[in-house]
Amino acid sequence: AKSAGGNRFELADPEADARAITRHGLTTALPAALERGEFFIEYQPLVHLGDGSVRGAEALVRWLHPQHGIIGPDRFIPLAEHTGLIVPLGRWVLEESVRQARTWTARHKDAGPLRVNVNLSPMQLNHPNLVSDTVEILERVGLEPGALCLEVTESALIGADDDLLKPLRRLAEMGVDIALDDFGTGYSNLANLRRLPVSILKLDRSFTQGMQHFPADPVDLKIVEGIVALAHSLDLAVTVEGVETGAQADQLRELGCDTAQGWYYARPGPPDQLHELALADATS
Ligand code: C2E
Ligand code: CA
Ligand code: CA
Ligand code: CA
Repeated sequence: AKSAGGNRFELADPEADARAITRHGLTTALPAALERGEFFIEYQPLVHLGDGSVRGAEALVRWLHPQHGIIGPDRFIPLAEHTGLIVPLGRWVLEESVRQARTWTARHKDAGPLRVNVNLSPMQLNHPNLVSDTVEILERVGLEPGALCLEVTESALIGADDDLLKPLRRLAEMGVDIALDDFGTGYSNLANLRRLPVSILKLDRSFTQGMQHFPADPVDLKIVEGIVALAHSLDLAVTVEGVETGAQADQLRELGCDTAQGWYYARPGPPDQLHELALADATS
């Protein structure tokens, strides 16, 4: 792992890592890694497409492995889910992120609240302490629930019965935003959306990728247009991820998307990156 450009880390080369570390090796190292504080969080800014202002960031966890350098979440989150370590790890991510949002907001009284989005895995969703842990963390840290957004994947909610939805519904009633992540990759019945306590659709990166070429595929455009119209008719905001070019951003703005995230704006980075961007907003 190395620090590039001073303010962000490159993920270690995945292929080299795959050769060097076995799944088993990583899995058994996970609990000690949490105890030793080897995990850290990068934050990727969320930008309002209308005026370009920074509204907050998504928390993305990384593992700074003492031998193998930085390991991305796609490599270890599935292992942590498999062993159950995702519950304490996810709680740590939540608390860290909530503290960070509190710090940003305290430093930017005039920029308006900066929000933080935290990913929840299916096992966390099913955990009986989800609501009480979340409430406890928000109260202890002193962050208003409206500054927190929990992202759950579409696939985690497919076929969800009321028991699974109840905790999410309680969080939503408290003012926590729930976002449906990776939207469009699952098979959810669109009519089902009404039943879910979500306020944000996060359109999967695959849609944005379809707009890389100019002119974009008209069918892709129609699909996104349809999703945005449906979302807005249900009072849901639309966030798009994986925006890599200005042309994509323009197109997505024209299609009515509300918020964007992607390399075009900023890569995931240390918490101060958000501070600097918000500061730049305030002075521009
Ligand atoms: P995700 O929630 O869909 O997060 C977005 C992923 O897209 C991130 O990958 C981000 O770095 C990447 N990305 C952002 N902008 C761009 C772009 O413009 N182009 C491209 N090609 N990629 C972009 P990352 O950080 O590797 O995270 C991968 C996945 O790991 C996340 O996907 C999420 O499902 C999971 N994850 C990350 N942190 C956590 C966590 O704290 N808890 C849980 N349960 N899952 C997490
Ligand atoms: Ca996410
Ligand atoms: Ca996503
Ligand atoms: Ca994804």
